Amino acid sequence: MKTLEYTPRILTLISAGKKLEAVKMAKDLYGLSLHEAKEMIDSYRPGGLNFYTTFELNTKSDYTPEIAKLINEGKISEAVRKAKTTYGISEENAQKMIENYPQSKTNTKPVESTTPVRQENQRTVNTNEDLLPYCCPNCGSNQVEKSIGGKLEHAAAWGGAKLFKSAVLGDYGGLTGGAENEIIKEEVPFQQVCNYCHRTFHASKSQIEAGKYSMSRRESARLTEAYNRKLKAVKDGEVNKIKEEASKKLSRIVFAGAALLIGLLIIATCEHETTGAFGLPAYTWTFMFSCVLIFFGLLGVVVEGTGYFGKLSEANEIDKMPIQSYAINHKA
Ligand SMILES: [Zn+2]
Repeated sequence: MKTLEYTPRILTLISAGKKLEAVKMAKDLYGLSLHEAKEMIDSYRPGGLNFYTTFELNTKSDYTPEIAKLINEGKISEAVRKAKTTYGISEENAQKMIENYPQSKTNTKPVESTTPVRQENQRTVNTNEDLLPYCCPNCGSNQVEKSIGGKLEHAAAWGGAKLFKSAVLGDYGGLTGGAENEIIKEEVPFQQVCNYCHRTFHASKSQIEAGKYSMSRRESARLTEAYNRKLKAVKDGEVNKIKEEASKKLSRIVFAGAALLIGLLIIATCEHETTGAFGLPAYTWTFMFSCVLIFFGLLGVVVEGTGYFGKLSEANEIDKMPIQSYAINHKA
């Protein structure tokens, strides 16, 4: 077991979303396998621990407190014997191990870091409690997910990035069974969609993990409020437009109502019957005309009236709708 530090340089690479470079650095710096280096970089969380504990590195060279005590007491040959039996190593190697003790980097105490990064992270930990890990940069909503349509685009970009990264960093495929492909994949931006403001944008998994899209609850609420204000203007505009359409219907109702009224007036005052051809009784032209007026007037009032009240209730419904429900089908 060994404690490794996320050095400032590694942290800079992680926060820039350059995961593969960070993995390579950890691998080269600490002599880890690519798998373990990836694990180390994946385990990092902003504001979290500044150390990674690996079980991969050879622990056999660590000096047990017992051996350290023997060395400190000057009992060198005893310490060599102890190292030989404890670690099952040759006399020669045990000798070397004991000789190396004062200069050795591998002692039993974990390495303590005093870099400013640690203090900075320590500070963030205290204020991080209400940090939302992934929010829409436009409206602050955390209803964000990978867009379904982004898959093909991502596959193409991944293919391109693979070629490029392999050229830059060397191809590890043969050694790792393709683990580096996964890392590159996580670095390639994927189209993301916000289910609140319906915007799409590009973000990679490693950028999200590095906290590029994280927001405090307060910042998220501020953005959402600003977006809701814009959306409210759209909503009010829609309500007004529907009310305008309703008022156009109102003028048609007045027109149809007037026709109906005139028809009723005529029918009430005119002669209904007259003597027609061959002396048979017949309806007067005025009577028939008033009937037509009444028929179409009534039809107009009913049809336009229904439409008018329909529009009014539609406008009313949208007007009363909470902005969160309105956001489902609209964007600002
Ligand atoms: Zn959004």
